[in-house]
Amino acid sequence: MFPKPPSCSGFGLTTALTFLALCGCSRSESNTGVGEFESPPNVILFVIDTLRADRLGCYGNPAKPSPTLDQFAKEGILFERMWAPSPYTATSHASLFTSTYPATHGIWNRQRLESKGGDIFPALPDAAVTLAEVMLELGWETAAIAGGGYVNERRGLAQGFEFFDSHTFGAVNRIGRAIDWIQKDRDPTRPFFMFLHTYEVHYPYLPNEETINRFDSEYQGPLRKAVADAREFAEDYIKQFPEKSPIGPVQKKFFKPLFEREDFSDRDKEFVFALYDAEIAIVDREFKRLLQYLESAELDKNTIILVTADHGEELWDHGYFGHHRVWDEVMHIPFLAKIPGGPSGVRRTDSMDLVDVMPSLLGLLDSPIPQAAVGKRVNWIQAPTHIEERVHIHQANWPHARDAVRNGASKVHFFPGEELPPEVFDLSQDPGENSDLSITQSGKSQIAQAELTFQTFLQSSTQIRKTWNLFPVFHGLGSFTPEMRSELEGLGYLDQ
Ligand SMILES: [Zn+2]
Repeated sequence: MFPKPPSCSGFGLTTALTFLALCGCSRSESNTGVGEFESPPNVILFVIDTLRADRLGCYGNPAKPSPTLDQFAKEGILFERMWAPSPYTATSHASLFTSTYPATHGIWNRQRLESKGGDIFPALPDAAVTLAEVMLELGWETAAIAGGGYVNERRGLAQGFEFFDSHTFGAVNRIGRAIDWIQKDRDPTRPFFMFLHTYEVHYPYLPNEETINRFDSEYQGPLRKAVADAREFAEDYIKQFPEKSPIGPVQKKFFKPLFEREDFSDRDKEFVFALYDAEIAIVDREFKRLLQYLESAELDKNTIILVTADHGEELWDHGYFGHHRVWDEVMHIPFLAKIPGGPSGVRRTDSMDLVDVMPSLLGLLDSPIPQAAVGKRVNWIQAPTHIEERVHIHQANWPHARDAVRNGASKVHFFPGEELPPEVFDLSQDPGENSDLSITQSGKSQIAQAELTFQTFLQSSTQIRKTWNLFPVFHGLGSFTPEMRSELEGLGYLDQ
């Protein structure tokens, strides 16, 4: 039987209770007997930024770039239907860390403010209770080894981490740093909770030649040379500016001009898929290194490992490259879990959402769940005997404002701010979302239903923001003009 986490048995019952009172947590979730570990387990939450599910072998990619992750899935649990709430990094991470939707936390990657004539960057407020804060309070040592970019302190995403190292280095460096931390830096008297994150499969793709050739050795178009040149440029850039991300400069200098060329062909695009698979292969190899280290250090038997992504990527599935919209190539992400003593070789068909990770993990550990958390506590040990379809919401704000309501196989897209009618797709017949059914009778009724669902969702999200004071923070708000403040109020960002 898993003894109570340290916070419940000695180290800090009083502290924990004070914390729970302050943060509004409750012990409303009772233990259902799933948290049966020999001792409090370590937890590694590995987020592979921009990884769409269908490019992993275990989700059906015939190129099989991910043998280690595929094997990992066979030895653990795989959720076939895992959804991201947004197509953006900061936004989805804020949802993952707080179990609230973007409509509540408002941590968009960027928010365009017309009165400012530019973008502002909301940050998670201290009032938000993050997964790391709860784990820390319960007695876990907390560490984040992340890939920089929008995963940073300025966005409020470092809350609860005793150690926070976020730099845009590749997976080789980040996994190496994670192993180093476990080996040399951690406190062996406490279990650890590690958030591990890499941008390795985020555009621009810069795999080495050898790995590329495993997926496409024949292509001789302009992208091959661009990748080689960009690799060299990025390596120099990181040496010169270790605190900066090379992603933007590399995209602008080497890839955007090519992607925008009129003669950018289907064959060129096919090579982009190979580059993406090659990046996955690199992450997979590094993940193997991490697993091997854990085994050699005898930590594998007492470490829960969760693997997921913050969003996927459009690879011209709908005529566009990037992650700014809410098609399923962006919203469908992987979720794999290996739990000591837990199920092996289970493919789950009940759906999950990034907002479910926090309550599910805390539930597994028989730990309290913050009251602001809206995610479902999914029992990872025991699959339900009967699947009740759930509603999942996806939202994008810029440069394309998009909302989508998923209800079982029905997915309705809304285009707020644009004069476009909603679109409806039957995912059971049309998983690629190509045949809009909005003019059919059934489509019309699905739109009406989705509109109601979405309005209720917005009202409830706003209420949660107010109840738990989750208004995002804006640096430099004091210098905002009355017009800017008024626009922010109109967007629901300021407490009125
Ligand atoms: Zn991301």
